Amino acid sequence: MRVLIIGAGIGGLTTAAALRRHGIDAEIHEAAPEFRDTGTGLGILSNATKVLHALDIDLTTTGRVTRKFTIHRPDGRQLRALPFEDMSRELGSPAVTLARTDVMTALRAAIGDTPLHLGSRLISYRQDDDGVTAEFADGRTARGDVLVGADGIRSVVRAQQTGPEPVREYGYVCWLAVVPFTHPNVETGAARHYWGRGQRFGLMDIGGGRAYWWGTKNVPPDIARDYTGGKEGIVTAFDGWADEVVAVIAGTPPDAIVSVPAQDRNFLDQWGTGRVTLVGDAAHAMLTSLSQGAGSSIEDGYVLAHHLATTPDPTTALRTYENTRRPRARLLVTGSRQLSRIEQIHNPLAAATRTAILRYTPMRILRSRNIEPMRFDLPTTPVEV
Ligand SMILES: Cc1cc2nc3c(=O)[nH]c(=O)nc-3n(C[C@H](O)[C@H](O)[C@H](O)COP(=O)(O)OP(=O)(O)OC[C@H]3O[C@@H](n4cnc5c(N)ncnc54)[C@H](O)[C@@H]3O)c2cc1C
Repeated sequence: MRVLIIGAGIGGLTTAAALRRHGIDAEIHEAAPEFRDTGTGLGILSNATKVLHALDIDLTTTGRVTRKFTIHRPDGRQLRALPFEDMSRELGSPAVTLARTDVMTALRAAIGDTPLHLGSRLISYRQDDDGVTAEFADGRTARGDVLVGADGIRSVVRAQQTGPEPVREYGYVCWLAVVPFTHPNVETGAARHYWGRGQRFGLMDIGGGRAYWWGTKNVPPDIARDYTGGKEGIVTAFDGWADEVVAVIAGTPPDAIVSVPAQDRNFLDQWGTGRVTLVGDAAHAMLTSLSQGAGSSIEDGYVLAHHLATTPDPTTALRTYENTRRPRARLLVTGSRQLSRIEQIHNPLAAATRTAILRYTPMRILRSRNIEPMRFDLPTTPVEV
């Protein structure tokens, strides 16, 4: 069998690494002409590090194991603390925060000699009884038994199945950066969130004297899509917040800050037909609130490879993969939307109520709400369609 993977992001690379473990041939086609460091960070939670461990990928050497997750008021006063180390022990795998580029490097190493074609932009595909043909912008074609659309939120593979489909916009912008930064309030393995009204901040230790930070702010969708306020706008947005928040923004060069709109897509009930399927954001783009977009893409790749390796007929394998993954992906997409709505509350009364609920929710419930999305069992046997 030969699998054509479209996109060398986290989902595509994990799919290739997992297929390689099963001895299945794959080739990756990536639109970008080269790999570039996005300069941002990622939280890879226990569910995903469990998968990566099964693929012999260890992120703990380049990132920082999350020890404590805390939520604060904008001025830095702590509202709640979650014992992440203890939760990770229960889940059997750590949560790690690190530079995105380090995740990509580890995944690229794991695909070994799998052919990876850069500057290879898919424009369409055709399938027949014997296989699937991918057509690229430069006129080349590639032929395989299965085609996996791992081409992200603006997936061409998905668009060929669904037709034009607008992204869903949530009316806030997200700024991100990775910078050299230490501060007495940011302990080893700290993941700190600060909840304001209509804006939030995240500050994470990623090891090596570096921090990953992100900030959000409610703005009209067109401004979120094309933020032009520069670093000045961010400094103003977080003026008067905790000392470490103000300091990390101040210490970040303007050109190190990436700005992205909060977007996801309608949840698809059908991820593929025949010899074609989707993984990662192409299948189920989600908001960042649960930190599970990359994690769920990693799970997808592993589960897909498992079914292709254990089911004789590839089209049955794809449908089994989709049926297995859909319920969990749907939970993560809707869970991220629900949490995002709470996190971005602007109304003062609603925000005060949110703070009171957060303060007085019993730890048992808070812990369970945070641990459930991180539960994932590696597949062992094929599931019936
Ligand atoms: C601000 C922000 C913070 C985030 N934080 C986290 C986090 O902490 N934890 C977490 O788990 N997730 C997080 N995510 C989500 C995570 O980044 C995504 O879910 C994940 O990158 C999806 O991986 P993917 O491989 O599906 O898609 P992508 O990473 O988008 O990769 C798709 C690849 O396909 C290529 N491509 C596109 N079109 C074509 C084409 N036509 N032909 C060939 N190649 C093509 C692209 O160039 C790209 O390389 C965050 C996202 C954002 C925006």
